[in-house]
Amino acid sequence: MSKEPKIVIIGAGAAGISAACRLFEGGLRDIVILEAKDRIGGRIFTTDFADNVVDLGAQWVHGEVDNIVHDLAKEHKLLESSYNLNDTNRHVFVDATGQLLSQTESSKIWALYYTISNAEEEELTQHEGSHGDFFIRRFHDYCTKNRFTSSKRASEILEWMGKFDNSIQCSDTWFDVSSRGLAEYKCCDGDLLLNWKNRGFKTVLSLLMHEYPNDSNAIPIMEKIRFCTEVKTIDYRNPENIIITTNVGEDYHADNVIFTASLGVLKHQHASLFTPPLSLSKELAINGLNIGTVNKIFLEFPHQWWPENIADFEFLWTEDEKRKFFEDATNNDHWLLEVFGFFTVDYQPRILCGWVTGQAARDMEVLPDSEVKEKLYGLLKKFLSKEFDIPAPVNILRSGWHGDKHFRGSYSFRSLTSERTNVWAKDLSVPILTGPSKPAILFAGEATHSHYYSTVHGAVMTGFREADRLVEYYGSYSWKGDDSSNESEETPGKQ
Ligand SMILES: Cc1cc2nc3c(=O)[nH]c(=O)nc-3n(C[C@H](O)[C@H](O)[C@H](O)COP(=O)(O)OP(=O)(O)OC[C@H]3O[C@@H](n4cnc5c(N)ncnc54)[C@H](O)[C@@H]3O)c2cc1C
Repeated sequence: MSKEPKIVIIGAGAAGISAACRLFEGGLRDIVILEAKDRIGGRIFTTDFADNVVDLGAQWVHGEVDNIVHDLAKEHKLLESSYNLNDTNRHVFVDATGQLLSQTESSKIWALYYTISNAEEEELTQHEGSHGDFFIRRFHDYCTKNRFTSSKRASEILEWMGKFDNSIQCSDTWFDVSSRGLAEYKCCDGDLLLNWKNRGFKTVLSLLMHEYPNDSNAIPIMEKIRFCTEVKTIDYRNPENIIITTNVGEDYHADNVIFTASLGVLKHQHASLFTPPLSLSKELAINGLNIGTVNKIFLEFPHQWWPENIADFEFLWTEDEKRKFFEDATNNDHWLLEVFGFFTVDYQPRILCGWVTGQAARDMEVLPDSEVKEKLYGLLKKFLSKEFDIPAPVNILRSGWHGDKHFRGSYSFRSLTSERTNVWAKDLSVPILTGPSKPAILFAGEATHSHYYSTVHGAVMTGFREADRLVEYYGSYSWKGDDSSNESEETPGKQ
């Protein structure tokens, strides 16, 4: 090949931006990034709210060792431990009658959840079946061996743990999650809850593009992005000329395409997106891997009405209170039962963030702001008004990751179907080759990482992985030598 290859990247989230930066640094610079939204970041979505910024998507850097995001941020001292959340003594459990559990009891619940969750890899791989079955068995073992609490309270706690766990796995129920699949996930050592102080997670994008701490060395990725450009079809019948059509009526032609849209997008659209259709093994991987819904709802209050040293309020529903709730509530209200707690937010003294998952999260998405705000205020009063004088929230901001056709979910997990059909991230990550070895369509994005799926560091690594694949593939072609001799083409940020 004597001319520089044209590479189209679909999506300007963490994986797409990482891929673009790496290609650029590897000397492949004829790049276009097609992004459906009017912003970069994808599921990294930092936005102004109340006294500072909030993250509607990724919020914490999970771990310090072998974490590319941590490596990027470390030298600039951009991260800080979310010490409130990290302290097991700062979590407050309260039941639906308004009774606060003692601090000792609350701390035990929190610690127990993590003890069971941090089961050894060997135990997980040996367990055939769902993560829920595994967890419940371990929970009952613990309750039998320890005088933990009454059996009534134990079942309320277990129910809470199931809801909380869905926010970690991104499942509708923990009975969907493969225990063996969980053994695939690797936790980076070190602090798992590192926040970006007053900057938000979007800072990682500036770090990747070398725009931070000053942009004199920036890799010119922003000028390569076509915003509000949704890809409709990718036709790779002619591998020398892959044709990408978009909603804006403009077609793009490429030698290679790096596809980074979410697993949710693939599930909904792969049949219409790709010509020829994807292989059976790809289709099995897309169907077998799963992506659920986790949504955050930020409520802004006129002042902070909770003590400084509280990290969160966690809600336990008693059977009686649940029955009463169902008697009084309309069908529209059922999602409220799944709001398992409210968390304080670093650098935001007047905000609480409610978390909701699964079908309830999807039901919440379609309600108007005013209704969600009012109902959550009612929920907070129900659980906490015996202890606190709660003012009405003045503002609300929430995510809607499922309803958004450019995401169709929050982050991926390994389901029982993936276990049964034996499909894993690696099956999704295999590129489509044309000819003997040309990687024509490459797949990046969090769901394609075998061990760090569901995270930003996983997404970044997949972007690098696919860019490296192309850099290696084109490594020996002559245009590269020609191009690198052209000083005017050099990027200041190139290392
Ligand atoms: C609520 C929530 C909380 C999270 N918390 C954390 C956390 O604390 N820590 C952590 O590490 N991770 C967290 N994550 C996960 C993390 O945000 C993701 O793993 C990561 O951002 C995914 O990046 P990506 O590049 O793979 O995909 P995306 O961010 O989804 O990027 C794909 C891009 O493709 C675009 N796109 C989609 N379809 C098209 C199309 N047809 N044409 C053109 N463009 C298209 C999208 O608009 C998007 O910009 C969280 C996610 C959510 C939703």
